[in-house]
Amino acid sequence: MMVDRLRRSLFTRKTPSNIPRLPWLSHADTFTDFCSRCERCIEHCETNIIVKGDGGFPQVDFSQGEGECTFCYQCAEACPEPLFLPQSESPWDIIATINESCMASKNIECRSCGDMCEPQAIKFQLQIGKVAMPTITEEDCSGCGACLSGCPVSAITISRVENNAQ
Ligand code: SF4
Ligand code: SF4
Ligand code: SF4
Repeated sequence: MMVDRLRRSLFTRKTPSNIPRLPWLSHADTFTDFCSRCERCIEHCETNIIVKGDGGFPQVDFSQGEGECTFCYQCAEACPEPLFLPQSESPWDIIATINESCMASKNIECRSCGDMCEPQAIKFQLQIGKVAMPTITEEDCSGCGACLSGCPVSAITISRVENNAQ
């Protein structure tokens, strides 16, 4: 059932605490010195993924709203403080990774994440005698978060690029 699947994904979606507060932040370490907690970014986010985090400071949470950043730049434009980089800069350094909970690892056919990924960063590798395995091409992943809500078993996480390197 469509509704059951949506409800389950709402409960199982998780956002790690190590992702940037917001896209295009210029100086993340001094953010709380300059952010006035006016909440304009929260009000203007077109997908409603920005929430009040610790201390009332804004924080992206992919488990909220439509669960993805469209890179509309509305948060930055609405902000009265000099906190954001120009839109021409890279918004952040986060990417998605797929863990062993993926249904394809258990030889169960599923392509939900691929259907959600607009930049087509998720490719399905055919395997002899098994279902196709999804793999994410790091260079093509924008860290938009759309695939998180698409996965029925919460097998996808988003984290900073350096945290993915072993
Ligand atoms: S760029 Fe747009 S969708 Fe992304 S967090 Fe900012 S307001 Fe929300
Ligand atoms: S709009 Fe700017 S100053 Fe206001 S809460 Fe958001 S980041 Fe902070
Ligand atoms: S975070 Fe966005 S771009 Fe990256 S794999 Fe997921 S849907 Fe694709």
